[in-house]
Amino acid sequence: MIKKSNYNSAKSGQSKKPTRFGVNKKTSRLAPYGHNKTPDKDKLDAAIAGVSGQTGAVHSLTPINTSGYTSSRQNLRIIPMGGIEEVGENMTILEYGNDLIIVDMGLAFPDETMPGIDYIIPDTKWLQLNKHRIRGVIITHGHLDHIGAIPYIMPKIGDPPIYTMALTAGFIKKRMEEFGLLQRTKINVFKKDDTLALGNFKMRFFGLNHNIPDSIGLSIQTPVGQIMYATDWKFDHTPADGRPSEFQKIAQFASEGVLLLMSDSTNATKPGYCMSERELGQTINRLFSDLKGRIIFASFSTNISRVQQVFNSAAKFNKKVVVTGRSLVNNIEIALSLGYLKIQPKIIIKSEAAKKLPDNQVVILTTGSQGEEAAGLARIARNDHKSIKIKKGDTAIVSASPIPGNERAVASVLSNLTRLGAHVIYSKILDIHTSGHAHQEELKLMMALVKPKYFMPIHGEHHMIVTHAELAKSMGIPDPNIFVLDNGQILEVNSARQAKIVEDPKVTTGYVFIDGLGIGDVGEVVIRDRQVMAKDGMFVIIMTLDRRSGKLINQPDIISRGFIYMKGNDDLIREVKHEVRKICDSKTKEKLEPNWAYLRNVIRDDIGEFLYQRTERRPMILPVVIEI
Ligand SMILES: [Zn+2]
Ligand SMILES: [Zn+2]
Repeated sequence: MIKKSNYNSAKSGQSKKPTRFGVNKKTSRLAPYGHNKTPDKDKLDAAIAGVSGQTGAVHSLTPINTSGYTSSRQNLRIIPMGGIEEVGENMTILEYGNDLIIVDMGLAFPDETMPGIDYIIPDTKWLQLNKHRIRGVIITHGHLDHIGAIPYIMPKIGDPPIYTMALTAGFIKKRMEEFGLLQRTKINVFKKDDTLALGNFKMRFFGLNHNIPDSIGLSIQTPVGQIMYATDWKFDHTPADGRPSEFQKIAQFASEGVLLLMSDSTNATKPGYCMSERELGQTINRLFSDLKGRIIFASFSTNISRVQQVFNSAAKFNKKVVVTGRSLVNNIEIALSLGYLKIQPKIIIKSEAAKKLPDNQVVILTTGSQGEEAAGLARIARNDHKSIKIKKGDTAIVSASPIPGNERAVASVLSNLTRLGAHVIYSKILDIHTSGHAHQEELKLMMALVKPKYFMPIHGEHHMIVTHAELAKSMGIPDPNIFVLDNGQILEVNSARQAKIVEDPKVTTGYVFIDGLGIGDVGEVVIRDRQVMAKDGMFVIIMTLDRRSGKLINQPDIISRGFIYMKGNDDLIREVKHEVRKICDSKTKEKLEPNWAYLRNVIRDDIGEFLYQRTERRPMILPVVIEI
């Protein structure tokens, strides 16, 4: 079932698209595993063997080919199922022997080419077929692009156990509860210094900064070497939660030799360093001290670091906080109950109580920094929030830069706020947003610390990943050791620690669309239909035909939606009816059995062309035949 590959063969470039970094270079990826010796390897191997024994893992030994290269199950396979061709839907599978582990299970938000779609999740057909081999799911942190797909995917893959840190576990539990799946979910909480053995994989963890506490990187010991997986991260020496990245652990794991580093590319195109959260805290302090009216502060509901800073600044300047937005209220409750958020007692008040306070003592903390229609900020901006109405003197602070695709929605929310009389402070005017993702200098520092043999940039659109690959090259990682993959491509490493990109036709990837209650029932065809209808509308032609002769009995009926307004286009409609009649007559005059499917096709094509000639629009044409 697994494609055999021979690393000595010249056809190393199997990838169908020319996306691999340095694809024109056919240099072999044969560099022997040299400087990266693992001192504790024997001990680890023993531990790993023991664990495999426990889980009953079967190592199928496939024949050795002439180059001495063992194929299939003796190779480590790393399969990114999502997150390397887009921002979001992060999910990576690691496979060795009979064991699979999954790292993260996220969702992505649709772009403007996907009308009506709520979320996108990775395709899991292959995983479903291999669910008996899944040893566990490791979740690196609580953002939706890492946990969002869990309720959709887990029931399909046999609900394998989840392993994660406490805050992330809290977020996952809440989400599973909302989906009615909490009972069947097995969530195991670990601490940063714990180790975890799942089949052939033995894991240790290192703390990373991000804009949510409990973001962890993974050191994964595999039979072929150590992998370091740096999920969304940045280095912040003065973060809001007071816990900087665990540099000494990263260095310690690195000293054992690192086969492969996988690292976040979200900000790979941004030079310099990410601003520290402490500086951002000072900016918020300055705003809170200067602004005289009420403050409406919008942030991501999962951005617990930012929420903490808002509470800090509010306390400092004697302000009370009204929290609005269900997800924000939930997440604050979870973070408070687990001790990840420290706030003054009674600082949170109800909106009714806020009305009795002077304006300069009120902060309204809300969701909707991405312009989401249903979120607090958009409702406030539309003036249909149940308890909060904008008044003159209010200042709205939007603390996030828009995810690509959300710019228009954000802009319209901001404009609505200013129309209602609020003053708006946005990241473009004042850098109120510090990203949760490392900039170039931090990315380089990580590479310098880890000194991996191989490098695979992850998390980002293709151009970000390629930029990250170029940075790696500038750091001295040889071109052939850098791997830029597409979703579903596989990085395979053999027992001689040689790596290459392969493809397995059985590993299917692609977007699974979530629309309302439907998971995956909206496919590309439906999306294409929606695109056509959204662009030029829809044109329905209803023809009542005689069953035997195929002749039109009545005038055809026309329904137009989103294409032209029929009342103002009598002439065009009359012409279309005439054309339809002509086509029907000409196609049914042969004394053959009427073929409705054929007739519908001709109508669709000919009327489509006719309408295009007249209007230069291409509505979706739906010919309907009623036979009597
Ligand atoms: Zn994140
Ligand atoms: Zn992420």
